[in-house]
Amino acid sequence: MKYFPFTLLLVLALALPACQPSVEASDKIGVVVTLLSQAEFVENVAGEKVEITVMVPPGASPHTYEPTPSQMTALTQAMMYAKVGSGVDFELIWMDKLLEVNRQMLVVDCSKGIELQGAVDEHGQEHEGLDPHIWMSPLNAMSMVSNICDGLVQIDPGNATYYRQNRDAYLRELAQLDQDIREGLAGVRSLTFMVYHPAFGYFARDYGLTMIPIEVEGKEPTPAGLARLIEQAEEHGIKVIFASPQFNPESAGVIAREIDGRVVMVDSLARDYIANLRLLLDELVEAME
Ligand SMILES: [Zn+2]
Repeated sequence: MKYFPFTLLLVLALALPACQPSVEASDKIGVVVTLLSQAEFVENVAGEKVEITVMVPPGASPHTYEPTPSQMTALTQAMMYAKVGSGVDFELIWMDKLLEVNRQMLVVDCSKGIELQGAVDEHGQEHEGLDPHIWMSPLNAMSMVSNICDGLVQIDPGNATYYRQNRDAYLRELAQLDQDIREGLAGVRSLTFMVYHPAFGYFARDYGLTMIPIEVEGKEPTPAGLARLIEQAEEHGIKVIFASPQFNPESAGVIAREIDGRVVMVDSLARDYIANLRLLLDELVEAME
């Protein structure tokens, strides 16, 4: 599957519609997104008016995932593609090819208006390339939701009022989440946390926290790097190492054992965005109080 030829994908995509199970010959608008969190954003704005296709499915990593023929089919029928736009590997590798399949589609850049930052290593130093994980900050999520709404209004102006009302309701929920995170973190002892995959850079930026990533540029730490991380963890009194279902390697457990701490799973790609960030908040408060 690694080198599945793109032309073959395309042929399969065009051949598939006949044998697809009911894509409901409805008047729903086809919207394609890269990540599950974006599907949640689209659904909250568009409700039943759209048929959402998520490119990176549950459990898959947006750093390595490759599209399937049935996803290509959905793409040919879509009116809008909401891309993350912040340098997610999946989009860097696939976006041009995906757009070749459907040139009529409106492409919405969810990162429009968001100040992007570089990827950060365990020394807090910025690396080449952008930190793609914009969606993990509720403030960024608010911009993403607004950009999605603007796109929906553009392709379906007849329902503009409906989309805008839904957007405003969801923005209020996100604003409440933002406020609860600020209040929740106001009393913590430490502002430093350690995480395997550096998906919380924007979250850290927006809430004044310091994220120490174990993995750097997609690689496991060297033995020397691991030793330094253990030192850093002890220095900051860190007792919890965050990992996620998609990224939970040996090194997280090794560090946790060395510091007599534990590994806590947090998912940076869950669909139920607000509930998931509330879980993250609870875990962070517990880890840092
Ligand atoms: Zn990631």
